Amino acid sequence: MDLKNKVAIITGSRRGIGKAIALALAKAGANVVVSDINLDDCNKVVEEIKAINGNALAVKADVSNPEDVSHMINLTTEKFGKVDILVNNAGIYMQKSLTDFTEQEFDRVLDINLKGVFLCSKAAVPEMIKQGKGKIINIASIAGQVGFANSSAYCASKGGIINMTRELALELGQYKINVNAIGPGVIETPMTKDLLEDKATKETLLANIPLNRIGKPEDIANAALFLASDNSDYITGITLFVDGGWLAH
Ligand code: NAD
Repeated sequence: MDLKNKVAIITGSRRGIGKAIALALAKAGANVVVSDINLDDCNKVVEEIKAINGNALAVKADVSNPEDVSHMINLTTEKFGKVDILVNNAGIYMQKSLTDFTEQEFDRVLDINLKGVFLCSKAAVPEMIKQGKGKIINIASIAGQVGFANSSAYCASKGGIINMTRELALELGQYKINVNAIGPGVIETPMTKDLLEDKATKETLLANIPLNRIGKPEDIANAALFLASDNSDYITGITLFVDGGWLAH
């Protein structure tokens, strides 16, 4: 899949799934903006991309902060002249029972996972309209489709992303902007490290995955590459679950 001359912003891409998406899009020829809350880590990803002859820019931005988000878009257009692709990947997971969750913690998960998608899309869309085309890819989760105990804020945020994806598809279709989501299953990243280090938990998770393996960040990156490319031009408003079959139950 060819993304030559395209400009892609990937939020939360200093590590994990976001980093794999940044590398995959860069390999396909896109100019990539590696954005996250830690600039040093973003710079390391930029170096990796340059080492494979890719083109990338590191930008420090907290997706829940509108000033940071507008700075991210401004730096992107200053360096690369436009925005074609936005991958809303930044997210946090907090595992707590309803009674232990504080209001501030609930707000923080929603601010980053859901409001972040709203703020970044709102800032990027005017640039996409100028191009007469665009691709927005939101990283949701199987936890947006089914419930997971002790994950109230996370489930709410990911369910919100899935329906905001449908809504944005309706609103932005007139500008030829495709809005789709990816719903990862259990993927091996720093987010799931502790969970997967526990042998019993890992076995329980595997028992729910027909393909009988934990996902890799590259599994998600392959789906993101497809949704970022012209090959998916007639697809909008969907959530593509990449979960080894978890939701087939
Ligand atoms: P991760 O923790 O490795 O990556 C998340 C990234 O988001 C980190 O680099 C982090 O610094 C960044 N981030 C956090 N808060 C931010 C903020 N306010 N502004 C900008 N960046 C911020 O986890 P991951 O597994 O790579 O997760 C990537 C996405 O995939 C998340 O949205 C997550 O919810 C989703 N997801 C992951 C899994 C999984 O099993 N790993 C499953 C379903 C969905």
